[in-house]
Amino acid sequence: MRIVLLGAPGSGKGTQAQCLQRDLALPQVSTGDLLRRAVSEGTESGLSAKTAMDAGELVSDDIVLGMIKDRLEASDAASGYVLDGFPRNVAQAKGLDGVLRDLSQQLDAAVLMDVDFEVLMKRLTGRRTCSKTGKLLNIYFSPQSELDACLNAGGELLQREDDNEATISSRLNVYHDQTEPLIEFYCSRNLLKTLDADGEAQDIYTRLLATLGYV
Ligand code: AMP
Repeated sequence: MRIVLLGAPGSGKGTQAQCLQRDLALPQVSTGDLLRRAVSEGTESGLSAKTAMDAGELVSDDIVLGMIKDRLEASDAASGYVLDGFPRNVAQAKGLDGVLRDLSQQLDAAVLMDVDFEVLMKRLTGRRTCSKTGKLLNIYFSPQSELDACLNAGGELLQREDDNEATISSRLNVYHDQTEPLIEFYCSRNLLKTLDADGEAQDIYTRLLATLGYV
C-alpha cells in the first residue's frame, strides 16, 4: 500500500507512520527526517536546506523531490510506503505524480489527520525526545513516569530546534497557505480520507487502520 499522510505539523503523522511501519512493514518516508539527516551530515543539500528549516519555511522543491526520488527507488520501498510530511505543496504533489509514473506505481490513499488548533500547539511546544533512547515524549501528554524514566536514566528531554514558538507559528502558516490546497488536490482524485486525529495515539491508530481498510 502507498499512503500519503497529510496534516499540520503536530498532527501526529510521524507517530502514526511509525506504527504502520512496525505492524505492516511499510517504510516511513519522512522528508523532515531525510532533511535533518542531510543537515547533520553536512551534505550540500543539507547546507542549503538548513536556513529554510530554521525559519520554519519550506525547503526548495528540487531538493525535496530529489531526495524522494532516490528514497522511493530503494528496494525496501518496492511494495509500499508511508509518505510523512511530503508532499507539502501542489508542485511537490505533481512532482510525486511524475516519480510514481516512472516507477509504474499508484497511490492508494491520502489520509488527512484532522486536529484542533489548540491541541496542535500543545503537541508542538511540548514535544521532546529522550536523549538516551530517542523516544518521543510530550511534557503535556506523556505519563509523568515516562518523563521521569528518561531523566532518571541520565537522559535529557531534548526539544527540536524548530519547535520554538516563532518557528511553530511560521510552520503553521506555511501549512495553511501551501499544504492545505492538497486536500482539494487529493479529494478531486478520490484518494482523500479524513481521520479524526484528536486523542490518544493508540485510538487514532485503530481509526487509521479502519480508514485504510485493515480492520
Ligand atoms: P517535519 O519534520 O516534517 O515537520 O519537517 C521539518 C522541516 O523540514 C519543515 O519545517 C521544512 O522546513 C522541512 N521540510 C520537511 N518536509 C518538507 C517538504 N516536503 N518540502 C519542503 N520542506 C520540507
